[in-house]
Amino acid sequence: MSARAAVLPVFVPHLGCEHACVFCNQRRISGQEKPASCEDVTDIIRKSASFLPPGGKRQLAFYGGSFTAIPIPEQEALLGAAQAAKARGEIDSIRLSTRPDAIDDTVLARLRRCGVETVELGAQSMDDEVLRLSGRGHTAEDVERASRLLKGAGFRLILQMMTGLPGAAAASDIETARKLIALRPDGVRIYPTVIVRDTALYDMWRAGRYREHTVEDAVELCAQILPLFEAAGIPVIRLGLNPTEELTAGAAVGGAYHPALGELVLSRILLHRAEALLDGIEPGSRVTLAVGRGRRSQMAGQHRENIRRLTENFSLAGLEIREDEHILGEIALVSIEK
Ligand code: SF4
Repeated sequence: MSARAAVLPVFVPHLGCEHACVFCNQRRISGQEKPASCEDVTDIIRKSASFLPPGGKRQLAFYGGSFTAIPIPEQEALLGAAQAAKARGEIDSIRLSTRPDAIDDTVLARLRRCGVETVELGAQSMDDEVLRLSGRGHTAEDVERASRLLKGAGFRLILQMMTGLPGAAAASDIETARKLIALRPDGVRIYPTVIVRDTALYDMWRAGRYREHTVEDAVELCAQILPLFEAAGIPVIRLGLNPTEELTAGAAVGGAYHPALGELVLSRILLHRAEALLDGIEPGSRVTLAVGRGRRSQMAGQHRENIRRLTENFSLAGLEIREDEHILGEIALVSIEK
C-alpha cells in the first residue's frame, strides 16, 4: 500500500481502554465526544468521495482507542462496515491502532479475516518505570512480543512513542527510540507529551509532581531522535499531536504543543548540522551555506533564529544561505571568506 494513500480517520475515543493513561483524553485530543458507529463508518467513507480526488488510494483508520480490546461483536461490526466498503471499492485498506497487550494469535487471525492491513501500536516508552508512572498497564516486553507477532503475521507495523512522559529523561527516550528501531517497524509516530486539560497528568503538573516537557525540550530531543530513525531507514510519519480546534482553543494547557513542531525539529537538525560544519571557524568570517531546494526558510529557522544563533555563537561577519538542488546531503559549506 502506498504511503500516499489518503487516510480517512474514524475515531473511537477510549473504546477498549481498560487503563486510564495519565496523559490521555481522546475526547479532547480528537475533538469527538462519542465513538463512531457502523453508520458513521459508512457515512465518513461516502462523504470522502466528495473531497478526495478520484482514483487515489484510500485507507480507513480506526484511531483513538484500543481497537482489539473492544468487545468482539463491536469490533466485528465496525470492521464489517469497513470491509463492505472495501468490497464496493470505496476504500483500499483498513488500519487500526491498539495497545501492545491486546495482541495475540487469536486477535491477529480475526484482523486478517476482517481485511486489516496496518496495525499501529502505542508503545509510548520502552522503560517500564515510565510506563508504570504513565498508567499504561503494559510493559516494554509486551511491545516487543506484540511487534514480533504482527511482523511475523505479515501486518504493516507502525509504532508510536512519546517523549517527556512522567519519569522519562532524554537518555531513556533516546533508548526507547533505539529499542523501537530494533523491532523494525514500517514507520513510527513521535508524540512529545502535551498536558491536556481533564487528565491525570494535568493534575500531576498542577500539584508539582510532573515537570513540563516544553516545546524547546521536545525540539532539542526530537532533533536527536529523528536522525536515528532516518539512519535506520524507518519513516517518521508524524511528529507532534495533530493540531485541532479544541487543543488550540485551550485544551492543551502546557507541554510540547505546537502546530508546526515537525518543522521546528527539522530546522533544529539543520542548525546542529551547520554548527558541526562551522566548528573551529575563525571569528569574523563570512560564510555561505547551501541547503536543498525549498529548505532555506527551514535553515534560517523561525524568526531567523538559526541565523541569529550561528552568527552570534561563531562571531560571523556574515552568513548567506543558498538553495542548491545538487548538494550532497542536506547541507554544505560553500565558502568561507575573511
Ligand atoms: S493512550 Fe491509548 S490506551 Fe491509553 S487511554 Fe488513550 S487511547 Fe486508551
